Amino acid sequence: MSLSLSAGKPEVPDDAADGTWLECIDCGETFGPFEDVRYTCDECDSLLEVRYAEHPTFDDFEGEGVWRYSDALPLESGVTAQEGATPLYEVPRLEESIDVEALRIKHEGMNPTGSFKDRGMTVGVAVAKELGVGRLACASTGNTSAALAAYGSRGGMETLVLLPAGKVAAGKIAQASLHGARILEVDGNFDACLDIVQELASQGEAYLLNSLNPFRLEGQKTIGFEILEAFRDDYGAFPDRIVLPVGNAGNTSALYKAFRELVQAGELDRDEVPKLTGVQAEGAAPMVEAIENGADEVRRWEDVETRATAIRIGNPVNAPKALPGIRETDGTAISVSDKEITEAQRDLAGEGIGVEPASAASVAGLRKLRAEGIVESDERVACLTTGHLLKDPDAAAAAGNDPEPVPADTDGVLASLASENSSER
Ligand SMILES: *Cc1c(COP(=O)(O)O)cnc(C)c1O
Ligand SMILES: [Zn+2]
Repeated sequence: MSLSLSAGKPEVPDDAADGTWLECIDCGETFGPFEDVRYTCDECDSLLEVRYAEHPTFDDFEGEGVWRYSDALPLESGVTAQEGATPLYEVPRLEESIDVEALRIKHEGMNPTGSFKDRGMTVGVAVAKELGVGRLACASTGNTSAALAAYGSRGGMETLVLLPAGKVAAGKIAQASLHGARILEVDGNFDACLDIVQELASQGEAYLLNSLNPFRLEGQKTIGFEILEAFRDDYGAFPDRIVLPVGNAGNTSALYKAFRELVQAGELDRDEVPKLTGVQAEGAAPMVEAIENGADEVRRWEDVETRATAIRIGNPVNAPKALPGIRETDGTAISVSDKEITEAQRDLAGEGIGVEPASAASVAGLRKLRAEGIVESDERVACLTTGHLLKDPDAAAAAGNDPEPVPADTDGVLASLASENSSER
């Protein structure tokens, strides 16, 4: 099976260009990488993956950020805003209270537009230029639209975004708006937006930059490279587990691809591969359902709801890539309540790390899995926090302390300070 961790060296097809091609994950059909615009397999409609004749080793990487890993990417350079190279924070209090050997937070909210989507867009927009397409488009729960708008404008291209009306956090719409995207608010959920934008793309109206686009996932692969390099430098060993929030499961697929390529390159032993552990909100947990039931396919949830709007997704398009990733790495998936998400958001904030609700799902999921004994106390774990606190100021304000009104004089302020803070949570 092509998505196996122990897949052999690939045969390079005739349509490869510079040792790079697109391959269907189901039927194995191959396509030239930049010949035509295509997002799925012409033969069977399944997902495509970018494949390479050779995989680089850690020694081949140089520079900083996403393009440090250009030897593992389909292009040498991209439309960049200096994305990647995000911090991997220590969180001693959280590490102790969750009770694992080591816990690090990979804060993807520190990317230029405040989410990991930038890593995908720097590659995706560059590929769009290579293909010579006109308009770029995406459906989005918010962050993809912010990244597309920013990278599209950096590349001098027109952008169109479809958002579920009333379900996108304020910071994200503001970004898409100021960076000049045409914003269509759809009277439906994210999955409906994606259905429509896929139709538009197939009719040639726009180039699709959702994570269905295999080139975007190449950029997101670099999260895995960064985490593994950092753990190796700090602990002399790779992490035992990587925990991440799951929406469309693009990141889960991208991390798994990074691991497979490092195994192929001989940099990572099969038994060193971190356990991929996905976390969803209880109200939008189709991947968790599939993992729990041992199902090969994910059942689309029509009605999804959670405060973590970035992962309010009922039909994770990358499930066929992500399910093997979770299974082959001995990982798992779990769902958490909105209350647990908010508590984790506060816990992270208490370590000085500001994240949006979806991001905190990783930490909430880790806490729960540790409490259930599925994660063990001797594990070294990296949790991904996917987006910045300022993306969703309303959620942050609701989870935090309320401001206290005081009079404009020192005595009045002192009197307030002396009294019990009635608004503290
Ligand atoms: C896009 C996004 C996710 C979901 O990532 P997938 O790759 O679609 O699973 C999670 N958190 C945030 C903040 C996001 O923007
Ligand atoms: Zn196919």
